[in-house]
Amino acid sequence: MNFNYKRSYNGPIEAVLLDWAGTTLDFGCMAPAVVFVEVYKRKKVPITIEEARAPMGAHKRVHIQRISELDSVRRRWQETHGRPPNDDDVSAMFAEFVPLQLECLSSYSALIPGTLEAIAALRARGIKIGSTTGYLTEMMKINQADAKRQGYEPDATVCAADVPAGRPYPYMCLQNVIKLGVSAVQACVKIDDTVPGIEEGLNAGMWTIGLAVSGNEVGMMLDEWRALPAAEQKIKRARAYTRMQQCGAHYVVDTIADIMPCIDDIQARIRRGETA
Ligand SMILES: [Mg+2]
Repeated sequence: MNFNYKRSYNGPIEAVLLDWAGTTLDFGCMAPAVVFVEVYKRKKVPITIEEARAPMGAHKRVHIQRISELDSVRRRWQETHGRPPNDDDVSAMFAEFVPLQLECLSSYSALIPGTLEAIAALRARGIKIGSTTGYLTEMMKINQADAKRQGYEPDATVCAADVPAGRPYPYMCLQNVIKLGVSAVQACVKIDDTVPGIEEGLNAGMWTIGLAVSGNEVGMMLDEWRALPAAEQKIKRARAYTRMQQCGAHYVVDTIADIMPCIDDIQARIRRGETA
């Protein structure tokens, strides 16, 4: 008889890697979205909030470039400037983006409810906390200081600029593995509110949990979301769940407040020999 033999990790979850905006702080992932709208407005090419959000999760320069590649945006750019947007335009907008983003980050840096409780529960299980982000290092310094003031301080943070490429490449996750001294990627769970952020975790060989409501997919601030009639919440939630599930997330929940049952389920599946 002929068989292939397959190995599976069956130890403890060693690390959880969390995204920042829309995952642990900035409910609705508002800070980047409003600044993308502003930099295009300054080029006299208005974009919608949906166009601004479409590439969310990417390195911020890549994000500006991806917006410029949307058919609708190219058409409007052509109408205004008589030519399509080019790489110099992207560089110019990125240069404007950076100070504008730095200026408004702290207006959107409140921790998402449930973050501190989730971190405490993870730490109680001996799990290390890593993090990845599409923000630049100087932006992260602001978010890290604001988060620390509110009681959240991950053990490791990796920005897109720290590695050869951002999401959906797995490099930021793998850099966390190194920084945290984790023994195997199979012992890690990546949690994110965007599709590229889930793909980043999957590409690193990790378990993934998508957050549908607190982040880019619904894209509403906490009080806006709470004020929304239940019927509308239902529609937006369903759309966000479908998007996150279709990109391959192992689990999808509303917000970070809901992750612990998933963590315990992943741990049980790992013990049974399942792989991500
Ligand atoms: Mg995010």
